[in-house]
Amino acid sequence: MDERQRAKVKTMLEFYQDLGIEEFYIRRTEIAKAAPRPQRLTPDSADVQTLSTEKRSESRLQPIHASLGSPPVSQHQLGGSPQAAAAPGPAARPMSLFESASTTAPREHETLEEIHADLGECRRCRLASGRHTIVFGQGNPHAELIFVGEGPGADEDAQGIPFVGRAGRLLNRMIELAGMKREDVYICNVVKCRPPNNRTPLPDEIETCSPFLLRQIQAIKPRLVCCLGAPAVKTLLGAKEGITKIRGQFYDFQGTKALPTFHPAYVLRNPREEKILREDFQKIVDFLKSPC
Ligand code: SF4
Repeated sequence: MDERQRAKVKTMLEFYQDLGIEEFYIRRTEIAKAAPRPQRLTPDSADVQTLSTEKRSESRLQPIHASLGSPPVSQHQLGGSPQAAAAPGPAARPMSLFESASTTAPREHETLEEIHADLGECRRCRLASGRHTIVFGQGNPHAELIFVGEGPGADEDAQGIPFVGRAGRLLNRMIELAGMKREDVYICNVVKCRPPNNRTPLPDEIETCSPFLLRQIQAIKPRLVCCLGAPAVKTLLGAKEGITKIRGQFYDFQGTKALPTFHPAYVLRNPREEKILREDFQKIVDFLKSPC
């Protein structure tokens, strides 16, 4: 690598260090075959080959079940309908952020309060300039179930609480219909500041903000992460396929399970999909009732 590349990588690694991410692992790509074992990278020992955008993009097209460690967990395996066992998983996907970044031992026992304090009055990405309030997340710090949405809307931005607008009311209704209470679960988003005009967060905004989401999930250690909508699915699972195709199936995720489903805002725009959303919530309930 030349000096310019080295400096760029050093800066990036230092940034992730600030976020509490201290280890990066080399993926098993063509270029990494010579060194297939995980290697710890520090700002002073960056291997540009494994971190460059160009090379990372080469490694993205992999079956989701291969990269996540196992195929989607079928309903049959979970004690549900055998038909679901035949449901195909996503065929190919980009690498999720969490496969390139790892928060390990030193962060294992950090609390949500510590993560929140570390986030502070964050201005790490451009979304800071348009927000009123950072929407960190809300709910039970020991929840078995986490909902991850896309980003705060106007109501959330005003109140600093996730899912309080119309979509939030639908989510609350689904939670209650499933026999749970909102205070029993944890709710957060891929990005913590409202994107202008509620646009979809941009990849660099997600990449900057979502390490905090990862730390929140690791602090809570839920049994299930429910990804609400495509940005959450892409961020957490790296899934390339559309939400319609992969929703309602269980995937291995960070030692736990994840289930993608529709974002409530999408269901508000497409009321006929509420039936599907209810079905997915029933799967969540069945999963949580099953033995650990
Ligand atoms: S979206 Fe996340 S990274 Fe960007 S400013 Fe807000 S809290 Fe910071």
